[in-house]
Amino acid sequence: MSAFQVIGDPVLHSKSPILHRAMLDELGLDYPYTAHVVKKGELPAYLAWAEDNGITGFNATMPHKEDLIPLLDGLDDSAARCGAANTVALRDGKWLGFNTDGLGCLEALKEAGMDPAGKTVLVLGAGGAAKAVVPALVSGGAGRIFVANRSFPRAAALCVRDESHRLTPAGFDPDTLASLAAQSRLLVNCTSLGMEGTPSQFGDFSFLDALPGGAGVFDLIYHPAETELLRRARARGLNASNGLGMLVWQAVLALEIFLNRPLDRSEMAAAARATLD
Ligand code: NAP
Repeated sequence: MSAFQVIGDPVLHSKSPILHRAMLDELGLDYPYTAHVVKKGELPAYLAWAEDNGITGFNATMPHKEDLIPLLDGLDDSAARCGAANTVALRDGKWLGFNTDGLGCLEALKEAGMDPAGKTVLVLGAGGAAKAVVPALVSGGAGRIFVANRSFPRAAALCVRDESHRLTPAGFDPDTLASLAAQSRLLVNCTSLGMEGTPSQFGDFSFLDALPGGAGVFDLIYHPAETELLRRARARGLNASNGLGMLVWQAVLALEIFLNRPLDRSEMAAAARATLD
């Protein structure tokens, strides 16, 4: 018998239980998947409790993705590369960490008609999400990748971790963003600017005017469903997509890890997505 959870603080708003329930039902599996509040600092106690209580896999959200790394028994490349785990599975008594955010984003980009292969990409942000997304863009065959961040040292630190030599760190001032956008065919927003509940918003959207016609704009944010960035990108006639697809795909990939077998990914994504309509 398997049992899964999503942990975080806050976590009760998480869509993971609904997405996983839909996929498990589609597979005819009655394994429970519940949300569980775990506060910062409580991870060691949670891991012991989870093992004693039959939890065989869990997803992690804020504030645990990075804190989990030193506590796990092993890491898959996806988690080791970005120093964060969003999916943890118990295999042979060992807690193994994975990160499905990056590949989830790549699948969502392809689904939205924004395959990064061969394209110059402008990534905005260098926080936890960008750390997962950038290596996935590299593995997805993106050409040059500019990582622009308000705090330049954070962008530089992200780029220095990569051996592909395709990453260039950059600042976040309007002139820099416009100049990089003019060279890019895909823009991926990994900042929290425009997210519901945060007061921060882009001060200047002129980088959108600099993007070439036909460029894609992908915003990881899905609350609200249409951010100001996406609204303006669509008004300019650009292909624009929010982060719901990424949310769905990271869950599909996490379920494959929990069950330790390949699934019909399209079927699972369709079942999960239907819950969001
Ligand atoms: P994070 O680690 O806190 O990073 C936040 C990023 O936003 C940093 O790059 C930060 O720059 C930048 N930022 C924040 N306020 C800013 C401002 N006023 N001006 C310029 N830059 C600013 O957060 P995260 O975990 O990476 O998450 C980022 C976003 O992605 C969130 O909205 C989250 O909901 C979304 N997300 C979506 C999914 C999905 O499945 N769709 C998955 C993961 C995350 P500094 O480094 O300079 O502070």
